Amino acid sequence: RANEKATPLPLVVLDPGHGGKDPGAIGISGTYEKHVALAAAQELRRRLLATRRYRVELTRGRDVFIALEERVAIARRRGAALFVSMHADAMPDPGVRGASVYTLNETASDGQTAALAQRENASDRFGTPHFQNTPPEVARILVSLVRQETRTGSARMAKSVVTSLGRDVKLLPNPARHASFMVLKAADIPSVLVELGFMSNRADEADLRRPAHRTKLAGAMARAVDAYFAAGGERLTG
Ligand code: ZN
Repeated sequence: RANEKATPLPLVVLDPGHGGKDPGAIGISGTYEKHVALAAAQELRRRLLATRRYRVELTRGRDVFIALEERVAIARRRGAALFVSMHADAMPDPGVRGASVYTLNETASDGQTAALAQRENASDRFGTPHFQNTPPEVARILVSLVRQETRTGSARMAKSVVTSLGRDVKLLPNPARHASFMVLKAADIPSVLVELGFMSNRADEADLRRPAHRTKLAGAMARAVDAYFAAGGERLTG
């Protein structure tokens, strides 16, 4: 029986955005992004644990502030096989709505996403300034350290999320986007950031307040995680 000692289940680290003194985006009717992100992550955790195929940990399980850099560090320390950051930010245009998925790239896919990453990265203004003072050349090196296979895994996961979410909820046009998000900078862990919708849109905000909608989102994301690992998404070593 010694040989039957099971390899540990892959660890999925879910990262509810913002928290504590950083509320994230605040919706038109007063909903805080940090609360929606945590509720959605907790629902997704329940879904994933129910499959008995994964271990699941949250970077925060309550309303506390965690710097972006620390979120990445938590995932690395715990040996995450997949990192999923969950958000519901605001867009300057209140008409913009729908879910979308982001991967790391030093060049943004479009202006809207570049601005989103800039706002998202500014979350660290609530903590000790660290990354925000990183000179551009150092930032470039950080990005180039992200290995190709990690990028490939991240891109595959993003595609999986888009396919799965697209069946159940409204998506942003061109829903798979990329930019230089600090929280996606783990060099060896495939990482995606999911915008479950936008707090700046009345319909998205109303949806995200509803547990039934978050259940639908979590179900779709759990399917995406399943598809990712079924296709061989194990952590790459060496
Ligand atoms: Zn956010």
